[in-house]
Amino acid sequence: MQITDITFQHFAYTSNTVRDSEGHGHPGPPHEARQTLMTIQTDTDVEGVYLGGVSQAVVESHVKPHIVGQNPLYREKIWQSLKERQRLHLGVLSDRILAAIDLALWDFAGKYTNLPVHHLLGATRERLPAYASTMCGDDLEGGLDTPAAYAKFAEWCIERGYPAFKLHTWQPPYEGAPSVKRDLEACAAVREVYGPEADLMLDPFHYYTRLEALALARGLEELDYYWMEEPMDENSMSSYVWLCEQTSLPICGPETAEGKLQVRAEWIKAGACDLVRGGIGDVGGITPLMKIAHLSEAYGMRMEVHGGGVGNLHVLCAMGIPGQYYERGLLHPFIDFDEVPPWLNAPVDPMDDKGFVEVSAQPGLGLELNRAYIEKHAI
Ligand code: MG
Repeated sequence: MQITDITFQHFAYTSNTVRDSEGHGHPGPPHEARQTLMTIQTDTDVEGVYLGGVSQAVVESHVKPHIVGQNPLYREKIWQSLKERQRLHLGVLSDRILAAIDLALWDFAGKYTNLPVHHLLGATRERLPAYASTMCGDDLEGGLDTPAAYAKFAEWCIERGYPAFKLHTWQPPYEGAPSVKRDLEACAAVREVYGPEADLMLDPFHYYTRLEALALARGLEELDYYWMEEPMDENSMSSYVWLCEQTSLPICGPETAEGKLQVRAEWIKAGACDLVRGGIGDVGGITPLMKIAHLSEAYGMRMEVHGGGVGNLHVLCAMGIPGQYYERGLLHPFIDFDEVPPWLNAPVDPMDDKGFVEVSAQPGLGLELNRAYIEKHAI
C-alpha cells in the first residue's frame, strides 16, 4: 500500500470574521475568503482529508516528494521524517503543516479500518463538556467592549448550556489594552453571572510582565478561577516557574512555545505549569499530541487541549487522565457559532443543551463534506 499523491481543492466562502493588526479575529463585514481541502491519495480506494489553512506550495515542495511512495499507515515514520526536515526548514515547514499531513493520515487510517479515530487511539469516552471560549475583547458596541458586555454574553452562554467559560480579554491594538485592572473587572463580572461553582478561565494579553501576571493571578485567586493561560512570553520558562511558586491559581501551559513534547517535558519538570497545554496545531498533529497526553499522565497531570476541531476532539476522547473540557469557539455575541458552515453537512462539534459535545462515530475523523458546495465554489 502506498501514498500516490497529495491534491488540493481551494474554494471560496463568505466570512464574517476579520483580523486586527495583531492577527486576532473579530466580527466584521461579510467578505470573500478561501478554504482548502487537502487530500492524501493512495493506491487503495480510500483517501484521507484535511480541511483548513494549509499551504499547497509548501506541501508540494517540502512534503510531497518525501511521502509519495510511503505506506500511509506509517504515520509515526512519516511524522518523524517531517520533524527532522523542520530543523533546516522551520521558516516554511511549520507544525501546522505537520498537523495537516498527520490528520489526513489518521483520517485515512480510520476510513481504511472502518473505525473512528478515537477508537484507533484507544478510546475512553464519546462525549465531554465544552467551555465557551470567547473572541478577544473589542470596541464594538454590544460586542465584547466592556466588562458588562462579557457578563451579558456569559448569560447567553449559560442559557445555551455551556457549563464553563473562558475569557480572552483586550489586547493591542484596542485602546487601553492591555490592562490588568480591566481584565479583572471582566473576570469578576463573569463570576457574578456564572455563580460560585462554575469553572472559569482567563487567557489575557500574552506579554504582561511578571508583576502584572502575579497581580492578575492574585485577583483570580480571590475570584476562584480554575486556570490562567499564557499571561507572559512563554519563551521565558523561568517567569512561569516564578509565577507558579507564588500563586495558588493553576497555571496552564505552554501553548505557543515551540518544541512540541520536549518543551512540555521541560515545563513539567521545572514546575512551570499546573495543567499541561497543547493542541494539534501547536505540536504538529494527533501523533505528537497523544505523546503529550501520555507524558502528562505519567506525571499525574491533566492536559487541557488548546482549540477545537475534529483532531483535538478525537484526542480528548482517548486520554487516560481526561482533559476536563473541549474548547468551543471562538464565540462572540455577533456570530452564530452553531451555524453549520456551507462546506459541511454536519457540525464538527455538535453540543447539546447541557453543554456536552459528541465525537463523531463515522470512520476516520468524521468530517461530513458538502462536496457539491466545494466543487461549485472552486477557485
Ligand atoms: Mg490560549
